[in-house]
Amino acid sequence: MPFQSELQLAIDAVRKASALCKRVQENLIDSDTVQKNDKSPVTIADLGTQAVVNIAIRQQFPDAAMIGEEDSKVLRENPGLSAKVVELVREIHPGIEEEAVFSAIDFGSAQDTGGRFWTLDPIDGTKGFLRGDQYAIALALVEEGQVVMGVLGCPNYPLEPDNPLNKGALFYAVKGEGACELPLGGGAERKITTDGQADPAQARFCESVEAAHASHDTHARIGEMVGISAPPYRIDSQCKYAAVARGDASIYLRLPRNLVYREKIWDHAAGVIVVAEAGGRISDFSGNPLNFGRGSRLEDNVGILVSNGPLHGKTLEAIEQVVDLGE
Ligand code: AMP
Ligand code: MG
Repeated sequence: MPFQSELQLAIDAVRKASALCKRVQENLIDSDTVQKNDKSPVTIADLGTQAVVNIAIRQQFPDAAMIGEEDSKVLRENPGLSAKVVELVREIHPGIEEEAVFSAIDFGSAQDTGGRFWTLDPIDGTKGFLRGDQYAIALALVEEGQVVMGVLGCPNYPLEPDNPLNKGALFYAVKGEGACELPLGGGAERKITTDGQADPAQARFCESVEAAHASHDTHARIGEMVGISAPPYRIDSQCKYAAVARGDASIYLRLPRNLVYREKIWDHAAGVIVVAEAGGRISDFSGNPLNFGRGSRLEDNVGILVSNGPLHGKTLEAIEQVVDLGE
């Protein structure tokens, strides 16, 4: 299989990071979180995860380029927070110095990637994480604008849709090799596929919990036009991609509230390959493929449509009727 060593490394790193995040979420106190300049929250688990994953990648692939969501600025300005992050990283790398933790976090600030790079969202869905809900650790490898490998750690995602108590799943995919799920707590992996549902009356779509991240009212109109009557499945983070990849939902809609907003690559890369390899389809709201080769944002794409495959065309037709992208 191609990218075998990258995949093994990614699964291992995301597993470690998932355990770190789980511990932090279970014991979270207010002082573990600060606001970044853009007013979005960041926790010690976001920063600890980025350090741990980047250390693993840099150790094995010293020349790799990485575009990660976080940087060490917030820690340099906040010694109390920094001490907590260093303590978390020391659980995995005993004795590591603060500067080495900063340097690992900033390994994720690649500008010139030479066409091949990793991208990391150390905690996607930080708002869900803070609410005690769903979040994901999302790591992917991109080549020439296309995702070729991705791993999603989802510590709170149920292994069976109807049993919320049995939770903790990791999803991964390599281009051309299908998609798999494995239990974070240990156990056998299994291949996953989208639901293949072609009847909208039997389908449901998922969307962000946060109304500020996506236009719920427009999604509702699209769903209605497609003929979906089930209520939307609201769930934070790239767990939405996991839901479509595993057939827990047939569609994921994401139209930004403000059409000038451009999605961040780390919010989609890992999820995109998992759904594509599970048999689903991904495009923007105009039907174009997502271009991951334009830096840290999906500059060419507005609105994200993720589907099981069979419902993609019908949903794009509905989008054309309902959404004015101003093109
Ligand atoms: P979700 O959990 O699906 O709501 O997505 C979480 C992600 O939404 C975060 O990682 C942010 O990068 C991203 N985000 C933040 N602000 C916005 C916005 N205005 N529109 C769309 N996505 C956003
Ligand atoms: Mg994110």
